[in-house]
Amino acid sequence: MSLYFSDKYVDLEAYVPGEQPRDQQYIKLNTNENPFPPHPAVTEAVRKEAEKLQLYSDPECLDMRRTLAAQLGLEPEELIMTNGSDEVLNFAFMAFCDDHMPAVFPDITYGFYRVFAQVNCVPWRDVPLQEDLTIDVRDFYHSAGTVFIANPNAPTGIALTRDEIRKIIEQNPYSVVVVDEAYVDFGAESCLPLIREYDNLLVTQTFSKSRSLAGGRLGFGAGNEELIRDLNTVRYSVNPYNVNRMTLAAGIACMENDGYNRENCQVIKENREWAAKELKKLGFDMTESMTNFLFVRHPKADGEKLYRELKERGILIRHFSTERIRDYNRITVGTREQMETLVRTIAQIL
Ligand code: PMP
Repeated sequence: MSLYFSDKYVDLEAYVPGEQPRDQQYIKLNTNENPFPPHPAVTEAVRKEAEKLQLYSDPECLDMRRTLAAQLGLEPEELIMTNGSDEVLNFAFMAFCDDHMPAVFPDITYGFYRVFAQVNCVPWRDVPLQEDLTIDVRDFYHSAGTVFIANPNAPTGIALTRDEIRKIIEQNPYSVVVVDEAYVDFGAESCLPLIREYDNLLVTQTFSKSRSLAGGRLGFGAGNEELIRDLNTVRYSVNPYNVNRMTLAAGIACMENDGYNRENCQVIKENREWAAKELKKLGFDMTESMTNFLFVRHPKADGEKLYRELKERGILIRHFSTERIRDYNRITVGTREQMETLVRTIAQIL
């Protein structure tokens, strides 16, 4: 830390992304990327758009919002496009949290929520998950704060139903409820249909997982026009050109070929069920995942040791050292071939 670093960040614990090693080729099952490349039309759209890089991107992302809105049955005014969904989540902390409106989220959830609260100097409160790592929705009633719920939750993979989320929204009428749907396309119910019913609901989604665009960095928020206007006030105060040209072109081509994404999600879900079954045969227990990852532990194998042994054998998974979940590992669901190699290698290690 330099002499000059602001006092307000002295205790800031930055987010630690999953490893992106360059020393060797790994089977990468540690950052929940999609194993399938984007549709060829996406690559072609990016190549063409690169010829116009001397020009700024559209700060309104209008073509992108129109395309997305048409697919989702929404109006463009109900959408904001961002640089990954991390950015819209950060904007939500900036726009909807302050000293009188703390951020409220589960103790075990996406690690970035805590960091966003810290970096924006807003108070936060975490609500313990139940013993079985599920959320009791009643713990989020009358939160007296802006609620952040990842649905499905990460890294547990467990989903709430739309009706359960509806209760959380109804029981927090004076604050915003942000539903982070980064993994929703792998089997959970989206709350997008609820945004017209509740003016305090913001739904966020990403192109990084189900739409094979993690490296493009594209996400969005959906909510009523006034919420979106607030988020845009923040966005125009930070970075109006937050989504670059090539990513906008990629996003539009991606949504025009959404059938391809859906087919890939279907394959990933089948691979998840296959891998879950095989890992159970090896003695693992796991949460019921509605995502593109499995959250597993073995009664006889130390979580961190398994992570290290797999890494030595060329397979990367994610281990978290957080006390409550240190026995577990999070394993991204890849291709069937990758899952077969994983299961075979784990069987050898055990
Ligand atoms: N929410 C959750 C729960 C996540 O796991 C992630 C991925 N790390 C994100 C949001 C953000 O992803 P991105 O910025 O790539 O859209």
